[in-house]
Amino acid sequence: PLVLGIESSCDETGVGIVRGRQLLTNTVSSSMDEHVRFGGVVPEVASRAHVQAIGPAIVAACDEAGVELSELDAIAVTAGPGLSGALMVGVGAAKGLAAALDLPLYGVNHLAAHVAVDLVADDIERLTTPTIALLVSGGHTEILRIGDIVDDIELLGATIDDAAGEAFDKTARLLGLSYPGGPNVSKAALGLLDGTGIPGDRQAVRFPRGLAKKSDLRDPDRRYSFSFSGLKTAALREVTKAETLGTDLRVADIAAGFEDAVVDVLVTKTLLAAADTGIDHVVLGGGVAANAHLRDVLATRCAEAGVTLRVPPLALCTDNGAMVAALGAELVSRGAAPSDLGLAAVSSLDVDHVLV
Ligand code: ATP
Ligand code: MG
Ligand code: FE
Repeated sequence: PLVLGIESSCDETGVGIVRGRQLLTNTVSSSMDEHVRFGGVVPEVASRAHVQAIGPAIVAACDEAGVELSELDAIAVTAGPGLSGALMVGVGAAKGLAAALDLPLYGVNHLAAHVAVDLVADDIERLTTPTIALLVSGGHTEILRIGDIVDDIELLGATIDDAAGEAFDKTARLLGLSYPGGPNVSKAALGLLDGTGIPGDRQAVRFPRGLAKKSDLRDPDRRYSFSFSGLKTAALREVTKAETLGTDLRVADIAAGFEDAVVDVLVTKTLLAAADTGIDHVVLGGGVAANAHLRDVLATRCAEAGVTLRVPPLALCTDNGAMVAALGAELVSRGAAPSDLGLAAVSSLDVDHVLV
């Protein structure tokens, strides 16, 4: 089926078109720049940007794919989870298209879509199930067991406070680095921001490994859960110490230590989930997948454990419309009943709720 997918759950307005498992186009525009001075995504600003971007994005996607709207077989849209006002823009646009073109509408789960994108990523082997998925972004940090992308998704664990990307963003701010913090913290850790080119010492500052003590790992409720809020406290302590003592802040060391702590816990728990479930595939998704240290450590530890790691191309890891179209096409292929035209955006949609 030829499916157009719309994503607007956060700050990216994405429109993707797939034909079955073939990706035809993936246009994304982001309002990231407008959030920089606030140090994080401002819902109102994001919604407004979606309203402006969505129309041109739909036209551009069709042009790029060489597809006429009249050729489409279905419309898919992120129904949740995400920012309520932002989601409503995409859902509203999708309904308009579905009604005008008399097409079935599929309101899909953003998290499942992050994994489903692997179905259309053609430079790697396609999605293999069962798999463990590690989703890490500005709003999410989850370990999922995926038996089947449509009807067997289980949340094994999630963050109990900050998301991994959010931790990067908050720590960056404490270190005086601009939003989005992830890329800047990485650069700082490599010594690329202070002009020295000398990588930070990952051991110089000890950052806490949240919920990773032996007792946490023994507790079924904490075994796959994350806590990253202690990291910014630890970073703040270093900043305050430097200010009080009048010493230079070792930004590279702090960034490197922080990054290592986040990555260590993410990777450790992902591999625990794989070992516990006897699943030997891991797939990575979300904007934090851009982190080179995470990719390195995860690749090394997966190889050691005999686990096959799959990392989609970065453009498909961050929020985009292709992932929504991919999941929509899978639902159409399987004969799933479409959503109601009265579909509502569900800002806190559970992950096992793939189709709304
Ligand atoms: P959602 O949570 O709904 O998926 P989002 O917009 O918060 O949406 P993404 O766009 O997928 O998430 O990712 C953005 C996040 O990824 C930001 O928090 C950013 O700091 C982080 N990030 C981007 N590049 C890197 C990197 N190299 N290292 C660490 N974090 C990164
Ligand atoms: Mg984003
Ligand atoms: Fe996302």
